Amino acid sequence: MNTIRHITILGSTGSIGESTLDVVRRHPDRFKVIALTANNNVEKMLAQCSQFKPQFAVMLAPQAAQKLEEVVKQQQLNIQVLSGVESLEKVASLPEVDAVMAAIVGAAGIRPTFAAAQTGKLVLLANKETLVMAGRIFMDVVKKNHATLLPIDSEHNAIHQSLPYDFNGNLTEKGIRRILLTASGGPFRQASLESLEQVTPEQACAHPNWDMGRKISVDSATMMNKGLEVIEAHWLFNASPENIQVVIHPQSVIHSMVEYVDGSVLAQLGNPDMRTPIAHAMGYPERIESGVASLNMFDVAHLDFESPDFERFPCLRLAYQALEMGDNMPAVLNAANEVAVASFLDKKMAFTAIPAMIEHVMKNVQQQTMNSLNDILNVDHNAREIAKDWLAASQ
Ligand code: NAD
Ligand code: MG
Repeated sequence: MNTIRHITILGSTGSIGESTLDVVRRHPDRFKVIALTANNNVEKMLAQCSQFKPQFAVMLAPQAAQKLEEVVKQQQLNIQVLSGVESLEKVASLPEVDAVMAAIVGAAGIRPTFAAAQTGKLVLLANKETLVMAGRIFMDVVKKNHATLLPIDSEHNAIHQSLPYDFNGNLTEKGIRRILLTASGGPFRQASLESLEQVTPEQACAHPNWDMGRKISVDSATMMNKGLEVIEAHWLFNASPENIQVVIHPQSVIHSMVEYVDGSVLAQLGNPDMRTPIAHAMGYPERIESGVASLNMFDVAHLDFESPDFERFPCLRLAYQALEMGDNMPAVLNAANEVAVASFLDKKMAFTAIPAMIEHVMKNVQQQTMNSLNDILNVDHNAREIAKDWLAASQ
C-alpha cells in the first residue's frame, strides 16, 4: 500500500503542468491533487478541474477566476476558486499539501515557490528562474525550513540521478571532478549568423527535440536556457562555474553527466520527454511508470558532442558573466531576458536584439547585495524598467 502524496501544481495548464497531470493520471493510488493554478486559460483549467477534482483552483486574473467560478458552479463541482498572487502562495503552503510542483514560467513563479519552501514542502522545481533570481536566499529558506528540493529540469534531474545517493553539497568530498551539462544547441546551432537577424518567433519556438512553453523555447534558441541552467546547477549542487562544463549534444539523449576523480563519467539517458524527470521526482525515492517509451539505442545510433560557441550564443556568455559577478546580477540578467523574450515574441524586436538588451541592462544596473525576497523583487522590477526604456529608445 502506498501513502498518498497530496500535491499542488503551480502552472498546471502549461507544458510541465500537463505532463505532471499525465503522470498523476497513471497513479491514482499515489497522488491526490489538492490545488491547480493557472494564469488565465479558463477552458483548460475547467477540463483539468472536471478530471482531477481538486479542492482549490487558482486563476491569477480575477476576471478569469470569476468565469471559472460560474462554470464550476453550473457543473456542481465542489471546488473553491481563488485569484491573485496571495492565493498562489496560499495553495502552495496548505498544511494538507505534501508536495508542490513549481511549474509557473518566469519570475512570476518566485513567490509561491518560496511559500512552498517556507512551509517545508517537497518542492519539485521546474521554475528555474527562482534559483537564478534568488539562489542563495532560496537555498537558505529550503534548509532552514527542512524543505526537500528535487530538480525537474531534465539536466539537473539527470545530475541528481548521477550523484551519490548521500550527496551532501560537497563535490570534493564525494570525489566529483565536474558536472557536464548537456545542451541540444536549439534550432539555430548550424544556421548562418547573418540569418539570425530575420528569425521569427515560430522558427525560434520550433525546438528540434523538446516540446515546451514558448518562453523556454526561445531561451533554448538563444541558449540563455543553458546559461540559466548553469546558474541553477551552481546553486543546486554547490558547484563553481569552472566545475560546470556545457557540452552541446544535439540528440538530447544524454540529459547530463557527472565526472568523478577516478575518471568515471556517470550519465542519465532517455527519450527527451519531461515525464521521466517528473515521474522520478514525484515518486522519489521510488521509481514509478511515466508513460515514456523505452529508449531505442539502434534508432539513436550516434551520440555527438561539440563545444559551445560563445559568438553564436552571446546569451550563454552573459549568463556566465552574471554568475561570476554574483549578488543581484543573475536576477538582473533574468529580468532583462524575460522582457527581451516577450518583446521578441510580440514582434517588437529582432531575435538578435535579445542579448543586446540584456547586456545594456546589466551594464546599467548597480551591483548590490540582496538580503530578502523583497530586495529581489525590487531588483527585478528596476531591471525590467531599464529594459523597457531601452526598447522604447530603440524604436
Ligand atoms: P508554459 O508557458 O507552458 O506554462 C506556464 C504555466 O504558468 C501556465 O500554466 C501558465 O498559466 C502559468 N503562468 C504563466 N504566467 C503566470 C503568472 N504571471 N502567474 C501565474 N501563473 C502563470 O511553461 P513551461 O514550458 O511549462 O515551463 C514552466 C517552467 O518550467 C519554466 O520555468 C521553465 O523554464 C521550466 N522548464 C520547462 C521545461 C519544459 O520542457 N517545458 C523543461 C525544463 C524546465
Ligand atoms: Mg533543461
